[in-house]
Amino acid sequence: MGVVVDINHLLKQQATPKPKSVSPRPITSPVNITKEKEEHQEATLARSQANVCRSLQELKSAIEKFDGCKLKEGATNTVVYDGTIGADLLVIGEGPGAQEDAIGLPFVGPAGKLLDNMLASINRSRKKNTLISNVNYWRPPNNRNPSDEELAICRPFVERLIVLAQPKLILCVGAVATSAVLKTGKTISSLRGQLCDLTFNDKGHFKVIPTFHPAYLLRRPQNKSQAWRDLLKAEEFLDSF
Ligand code: URA
Repeated sequence: MGVVVDINHLLKQQATPKPKSVSPRPITSPVNITKEKEEHQEATLARSQANVCRSLQELKSAIEKFDGCKLKEGATNTVVYDGTIGADLLVIGEGPGAQEDAIGLPFVGPAGKLLDNMLASINRSRKKNTLISNVNYWRPPNNRNPSDEELAICRPFVERLIVLAQPKLILCVGAVATSAVLKTGKTISSLRGQLCDLTFNDKGHFKVIPTFHPAYLLRRPQNKSQAWRDLLKAEEFLDSF
């Protein structure tokens, strides 16, 4: 059975109608991921704990037990992932907000509802064929962005999650997730919709499409049509297998 999509709701959210087809514009931006030269001590600890995990469930427990990131002190829950293990699409966001922290799952607040609708528009759902995670697992105080150091400490877990999940495509939502995953200083506006390469030395090659964060789209609905095009590219890429 297909995913039930509330079309009216979706149409209300779209700034422009769905284009009939999108000609692929594969732009490959090789991004080499190399281990930090001088890794934080906590990141080294995270790496050693992450790399022994053999499944996503093991990784989730390891992150929950990890005390090397100070953000954990102010958080109610550790938020690791939600959705379908074995899915070919992995969505990566920035980190938990208030509702995610309270419930312990990613993207359950207003931005999460929009994300679910965006995914449904390309026949994707966390229940059926999509895994959702973040580049940081604990809610920062006052909803500030995670610092570079906090992201560096979480990074080994993010890398391990990607390796264990083996997605055909990673959809990075927002500037923070995109720069953290691709280790790039390029803007989200310049990268969105592009098919980017992510290489972990000997651990594999992954494809990434960045797009706008749903929380940003709630503030700037006029940008939804661009996100819509990015989603169609993601769908087209996944359909090519
Ligand atoms: N925003 C994110 O980036 N991630 C979440 O899990 C929730 C909101």
